[in-house]
Amino acid sequence: MIRITDILDEAQKYMSKSDLEMIEKAYIFSASVHQGQVRLSGEPYLTHPLEVAGILVSMRLDVATIITGLLHDTVEDTLATLDQIEESFGKEVAFLVDGLTKISKIVFASRLEQQADYFKKMILAMSSDIRILMVRLADRLHNMRTLQYHKPERKIFIARETLEVYAPLAGRLGINWIKTELEDLALKHLDPEGYNELIERVAMKKEERERYTEEIREIIQKKIQDFGLKGVVKGRAKHFYSIYKKMHEQHLNFDEVYDLTAFRIILDSNKEKECYEALSVVHALWKPVPGRFKDYIAMPKANNYRSLHTTVIGPYGERVEIQIRTKEMDDWAENGIAAHWRYKEGNVASLEDDSQIKQLRELLESQKEYQDAAEFMKNLKLALYPDEVYVFTPKGEVKSFPRGATPIDFAYSIHTDVGHTCVGAKVNRNIVPLKYQLKNGDTVEILTHPGQKPSKDWLKYTVSSRARSKIRQWIKTEERERSVSLGRDILERELKKRNISFNRFLKEPAFKEFLEDQSPSNIEDMLALIGYGKMSAQHVINHVYGTEAKEKNIEKKKEDTKLFERIKHPLKKTSAAGISVRGIDDIMVRFAKCCTPLPGDEIVGYITRGRGVSVHLASCPQVQEMDPERIIEVHWEVEKGQTFPVNIRIFCTDKKGLLAELSNVISNLGINISRADVATYPDQRATFDFLLNVNDLAQYKKLVSELKKLKNVHSIERQREAGERSGHRLMS
Ligand code: MN
Repeated sequence: MIRITDILDEAQKYMSKSDLEMIEKAYIFSASVHQGQVRLSGEPYLTHPLEVAGILVSMRLDVATIITGLLHDTVEDTLATLDQIEESFGKEVAFLVDGLTKISKIVFASRLEQQADYFKKMILAMSSDIRILMVRLADRLHNMRTLQYHKPERKIFIARETLEVYAPLAGRLGINWIKTELEDLALKHLDPEGYNELIERVAMKKEERERYTEEIREIIQKKIQDFGLKGVVKGRAKHFYSIYKKMHEQHLNFDEVYDLTAFRIILDSNKEKECYEALSVVHALWKPVPGRFKDYIAMPKANNYRSLHTTVIGPYGERVEIQIRTKEMDDWAENGIAAHWRYKEGNVASLEDDSQIKQLRELLESQKEYQDAAEFMKNLKLALYPDEVYVFTPKGEVKSFPRGATPIDFAYSIHTDVGHTCVGAKVNRNIVPLKYQLKNGDTVEILTHPGQKPSKDWLKYTVSSRARSKIRQWIKTEERERSVSLGRDILERELKKRNISFNRFLKEPAFKEFLEDQSPSNIEDMLALIGYGKMSAQHVINHVYGTEAKEKNIEKKKEDTKLFERIKHPLKKTSAAGISVRGIDDIMVRFAKCCTPLPGDEIVGYITRGRGVSVHLASCPQVQEMDPERIIEVHWEVEKGQTFPVNIRIFCTDKKGLLAELSNVISNLGINISRADVATYPDQRATFDFLLNVNDLAQYKKLVSELKKLKNVHSIERQREAGERSGHRLMS
């Protein structure tokens, strides 16, 4: 088991005293928060962060990375908070630990083959600082080394994830030793039988092979020395997974896999020229196999791996695989990106121009002032997937967007309504504006407000097709609604000039005809056209009423519009006059003198100028000449005992005592007479006018039928006029 002192021993080889103190401090912090936690192996949990830090220090990574290794599980698995870490170890470490916490939350679904690439990309993209990925790889390496303690399904799951995501990631970064170890460990758990058989087979001929390896090694070593080159020759067994893969992919038996051992010539000098010289030595010694020579110096691999590869026919007629490279190339081949900064001082061999590595280099070169590992690592951002950005929901769900995405894109990805009402966002707990461009690893929380509406400007700040189409759709709908409502306003205003109500207009048969001729023939579309200004309201109205329609009533309109507006409201309450008027209870109501309606009669109200509402018989001829816009609905609301005036004229033959007879009939029905006039004519005709107070129409009708029974009564008329009349007054 590794101890903190081992780590410090290793670290002191390249770190300052204050760095070592920080590492010790991180160890103490980690020990205290992980206290009491135990790994599945039964060991204290602390062994895990220690091992991870040990792996990182062996790669000579900077102090922040080592500290992060010690702390990488604290936020995820203990009560420690990011704030605490920032307070004790600074922003940089807190940032790295946060990145690791986020990556550890990624849930890797079961359809590995399809998703592995996605996850590789995502992890790379999220590792906005390469050190996050380094710690993650070290973390995974130690977990793989201790995988045997997990349950079978869990073992398989982690092993597959390792083989399909993490080993290729290590390869991508050129860290070959991690890649190969991860592959072998994954194989051990994914196919234990195949793995064990392979180990046995390799072990069976171990002595023989070791003897052979040493023999070949010595021959090469001697030849290159004779040639005057300085360097070492290594012979080493290939890792199990590569043999296993070869057997399976090429359908070979173990015995058919000839090159179990690979030889490597590592030259002391950093001159490429010497690699080619060594190659010529080897090819002079043994016959090369045609088509097996590869020059990765002239054309490096994507991860900047550089080396010469060749296969020759060895002394026993067997194939021998040989790699030739400089020390520096070898360090890169094993440690990849992790090795790079070590060559910063002094003469760095030039990195070749693979586009991805080129991006990394450009980044480096833009940071001329970096002096040490920490600076180098801090500035080494991954730019491998420039087109995508990966961010988190507050619940830790990962979402990917095209680069340049903003909180608006994020909001629409949750729900259309969230998008429509989005006012801003909290990114990593800080409020940002809608224009903010999301960065890898951001945790995004959308802020909404019910009053918010999308605007055309949003199209400038969105890149996801979903957000853009939802915004466009909203704008289109909104514009239409506005146009319909505007169109209606315009049409109503035009109609008002002619004293025509909108509702009445809609009912006009001529309008319906007009509409039917339109395409599409619905009112909303027509109003929208008016609103857009594509059709004039005047045109529509003229079509219905003709251009003749005089706007004669315009002057009248300057009337009591206040009252008019009040009456538009819904029915409220009875008025004292025995009439209820729609919408108001304190309006002055009077009965028109022209027709003196009675309860039971069909009536209408007329809004007068400044004199309230006058109530007429619906059949009153005056009503027919009134402004229809001012005619309103009124209802009888009679209280018990309430009476109403009515004028009647009785045509009869003049006869003595007739007045008494008439009065008698009226009184007998309980009707009060307020006034009576009589007029006599030379031909014995007479007319009696009575102003009576009756309860209602029914009582009046009863009276009429009683009066008609009298012998000298010819006919009875209900008078519309209650005004003064000629003749002499009899009673009052
Ligand atoms: Mn861990």
